[in-house]
Amino acid sequence: MEYSGDHRFDVIIVGAGVMGSSAAYQLAKRGHKTLLLEQFDFLHHRGSSHGESRTIRATYPEDYYYTMVSESAQLWAQAQSEIGYKVHFPTQQFDMGPKDQQSLLSVVATCRKHGLAHRVMDSKTVSEYFSGRINIPENWIGVSTDLGGVIKPTKAVSMFQTLALKNGAVLRDNTKVANINKDGENEGGVIVSTVKGEKFHGKKCIVTAGAWIGKLVKTVAGIEFPVDPLETTVCYWRIKEGHEDKFAIDSEFPTFASYGAPYVYGTPSLEYPGLIKVAVHGGYLCDPDKRPWGPGVKLEELKEWIKERFGGMVDTEGPVATQLCMYSMTPDEDFVIDFLGGEFGKDVVVGGGFSGHGFKMAPAVGRILAELATEGEAGGGVEMKQFSLRRFEENPKGNAKEYPDQVILGSCL
Ligand SMILES: Cc1cc2nc3c(=O)[nH]c(=O)nc-3n(C[C@H](O)[C@H](O)[C@H](O)COP(=O)(O)OP(=O)(O)OC[C@H]3O[C@@H](n4cnc5c(N)ncnc54)[C@H](O)[C@@H]3O)c2cc1C
Repeated sequence: MEYSGDHRFDVIIVGAGVMGSSAAYQLAKRGHKTLLLEQFDFLHHRGSSHGESRTIRATYPEDYYYTMVSESAQLWAQAQSEIGYKVHFPTQQFDMGPKDQQSLLSVVATCRKHGLAHRVMDSKTVSEYFSGRINIPENWIGVSTDLGGVIKPTKAVSMFQTLALKNGAVLRDNTKVANINKDGENEGGVIVSTVKGEKFHGKKCIVTAGAWIGKLVKTVAGIEFPVDPLETTVCYWRIKEGHEDKFAIDSEFPTFASYGAPYVYGTPSLEYPGLIKVAVHGGYLCDPDKRPWGPGVKLEELKEWIKERFGGMVDTEGPVATQLCMYSMTPDEDFVIDFLGGEFGKDVVVGGGFSGHGFKMAPAVGRILAELATEGEAGGGVEMKQFSLRRFEENPKGNAKEYPDQVILGSCL
């Protein structure tokens, strides 16, 4: 089949969430003719990359994430300098949990190993350090690190799309991809077909379809992609009158995570003055095309957690605002970044299963996806074997973890 000039590309990306948009930026900047396709409106709210805040933290037990977070910190700064506005609002990260929680202890070991400035505190020191704004039980510890902060997700996706566009990429929304086939007739590469019957030719293709990646990969290659879509709820709570400033990012209130059950995370007051985001890392399995749009989060444990941690300064009657979002969970909560393989060989690259913690690393993921597509391998010192698609063939649970508590949700699905 013949393609008109505007239907031929070096790389076609399917899915314009943060991962696809970051890859589009990287590719366009390197001079590749790039097409970014999105099934819904750009910046829609039905996937994983919308909203007002995502946490940046380098506190991972796994070395490979530490490497990607620190590379991403530089790439966030680089992209911000190119666009001329901020998407990253720095503050410290504070991790807390029982003093025998293995993941938390291993986070401390990661900080030591990589020379990341950190402070390990007992409960008394935590209360002093945060002037009573955060309190932890006596048998807990807290760890503060400098590399933290809030990323504005919708603004960040828009930034990558704008930079991709400025560098010559073509962006099309409301264009749902129905299938990807090998182009056997012409000079190789792939044919990307949309549900409306349009066809695009790409020398290479990157699939970053978020919670829909399982459906698309099944259609394209007939294989199971090891991702469970989960609907999760973000909750905003009202800070009691007179205390609002204490929890604001400008008062150096941290982004935070609380280890153990429930795993709680949150960000300082920033996007909605007077409100603080505190949520449980959890959700409900669902079909991303038949969302329950609820039933919401189990609030009792969360209310208790807030009451005990924030010195009674946050109203726990109930969240004053909630937002819904999709997670794409793998069984080991590690990403999948690999070639699709089979008849496609290295022509199709897949990036999915970001398991509720990928946003902060989107700049590095975009760089890796772009290099895999155009060079057949990724540089930058990130070990790729833990992101292999085929790791689940050997073990359905995926990568072996040092401690059981390194996998929070994957094990329950
Ligand atoms: C509530 C919540 C809190 C989070 N908190 C953090 C955090 O604090 N820190 C952090 O680092 N990460 C966090 N994450 C995770 C992070 O947001 C995700 O890892 C990231 O957004 C995943 O992006 P994505 O591009 O893979 O998926 P998506 O944003 O869902 O993008 C995939 C896109 O592909 C499109 N698509 C699908 N199928 C097709 C098709 N056939 N044709 C065309 N387009 C298609 C979809 O419409 C969608 O726009 C959080 C996630 C949620 C939901």
